[in-house]
Amino acid sequence: MTSASTASPGDGHRLLIIDDDPMVAELLADIAMLHNFSVDMAHTNADIERLAGSGHDLVVLDLTLGDTDGLQVMRLMRTRQPGVALILLTGADRTVISSAQRVAELSGFRVIGAWSKPVDIDALGALFEASKQAVVKDDTGAIRRLSDVALSAVRDGQVHLLYQPKVDLTTRRVTGAEALVRLSVPGFEHVSPGAWVPFVEAAGRSRELLDAVLRCAARDRREHAALAALAEVSINLSVLDLDDLELPDHIRSVLGDAVAPDRWTLEVTESAETGRLAEALDVLTRFRLLGFRLAMDDFGTGTSTFERLRIYPFNELKINRLFVHTDRRGIAHTRAMLRTAVDLGEALELKVVVEGVESSPELALVDEVGCDAIQGYLVSRPVPPEQFGEVSDQWDRRQALPA
Ligand code: C2E
Ligand code: MG
Ligand code: MG
Repeated sequence: MTSASTASPGDGHRLLIIDDDPMVAELLADIAMLHNFSVDMAHTNADIERLAGSGHDLVVLDLTLGDTDGLQVMRLMRTRQPGVALILLTGADRTVISSAQRVAELSGFRVIGAWSKPVDIDALGALFEASKQAVVKDDTGAIRRLSDVALSAVRDGQVHLLYQPKVDLTTRRVTGAEALVRLSVPGFEHVSPGAWVPFVEAAGRSRELLDAVLRCAARDRREHAALAALAEVSINLSVLDLDDLELPDHIRSVLGDAVAPDRWTLEVTESAETGRLAEALDVLTRFRLLGFRLAMDDFGTGTSTFERLRIYPFNELKINRLFVHTDRRGIAHTRAMLRTAVDLGEALELKVVVEGVESSPELALVDEVGCDAIQGYLVSRPVPPEQFGEVSDQWDRRQALPA
C-alpha cells in the first residue's frame, strides 16, 4: 500500500499511523485493531497533509519519514490539533527519541509513549489501551473526545483545583502552594491540563477557564484554613489573557476579596507566544502595582527567555523540572545548568523556585546551588484543598526526624 488507507471500523477510538514504511504501518494497524481502534494510515506527504489534525484520538508518529520528519509533522499537528495524544517511534537511537519526546511535551502534546523500533507488540497494545483513558462514553454510550469534554466542562464551570505545596528551603516549611486545574468530569479528573488547556486556548475560551479558576481559588482559600494561612498561593495564567487591559482589576476583585493581593502569585509561562507585548507589559505592571506577586513559569523551556526576564516585572523565577533531572550527560551537566539559572535569578533579585523535585538527591543538588524554594513530588503531589493541611504536616514531621 503506498497511499493513505483506512482499516476496519472500531468502537469509536480513532488512530492515525504516520509511517512511510507501509509494512510497519500495517503491522501497527493490526495491533491497534485488536484494541478496537479504527485506523487511518499516512505514508506520504500528501497523506499527512490531508489526514493530520482530522480528529484522531491518538497519533503514532514515525520520526524518520523520507521527505519530511516527525518534528515537522508535530509543528503541523500543533496548529491543527493541539494537545493530541502521541506515540513516537523511531529507528534512530535512544537519545534522538528522548529529545523528540521533550519537543513533543513542550509543544503541549500528550506523549503516551516513545519507542525505538522494533516494536514490542504487547507493550504497544498496553499503550493503545492507556491512550483511551482520555476518552470515555457518556450516558448515551457515545464516545466523547477530550477536546469536547474540556470545552463543555469549562463552559459549565466543571473544573476544580488541586494544590501542590511549595517549601521554603531556609526554614524547610511549606509556605506556599500552586493551584493546578482539573476537569470535574468522571474519567477525566486525572488528565493533565497540559493535554487539554491548549484546546481551550485554541477555541478562544481561555478567559472562561481563568474565571472558573479564580472563583475556585478564592472559595478554597476562604474555606480551608491551611490554604488561608499560606504566605502565597499561585495561579497559572494563559498569556492569551494578558491582552485584556481590564484583567488586573477583575482579578483583584475576585482574589483580593478573599485574601490580600500580596498573598497571591500569578504565574505566566514564558514559552507561550505573547501576542501584543505592550498590552502584556501594561497588564503585568498593573498586577504589581495592585500588589500581586508575579512569577515566570517554566523558565528554561521556551524562547526569548532573557528578553522577557529583562522586560517584565517578575518577583519569582520557576525553574522547569527538566533542569533538575540528570540526563545522559550526567550530574555535572545538570549542576552547571541549574547553577546558571539560579545565578541569573539571584542577579535579577528574583526568588528562585525549582519545580519537579522528586528525590532526596535532587533536593541536595538544589540546596547546593542555592535555590530559595522547591515544589515537587518529594514534598507532595498536587492534592485537593481538604488534604493540603495533612500533606503539609506530613512534610514537617519528616523534616523533624533525625537524618
Ligand atoms: P506548571 O504550571 O509548570 O505546573 C507544574 C506541573 O508539574 C503540574 O502538572 C504538576 O503536577 C507537575 N509536577 C509537580 N511536581 C512534579 C514532579 O515532582 N514530577 C513531575 N513529573 N511533575 C511534577 P499539571 O498539574 O499536569 O499541569 C500542567 C500544566 O498545565 C501546568 O504546568 C500549567 O502550565 C498548566 N495549568 C495548570 N493549571 C492551570 C490553570 O489553572 N490555568 C492554565 N491556563 N494552565 C494551567
Ligand atoms: Mg505553574
Ligand atoms: Mg512550571
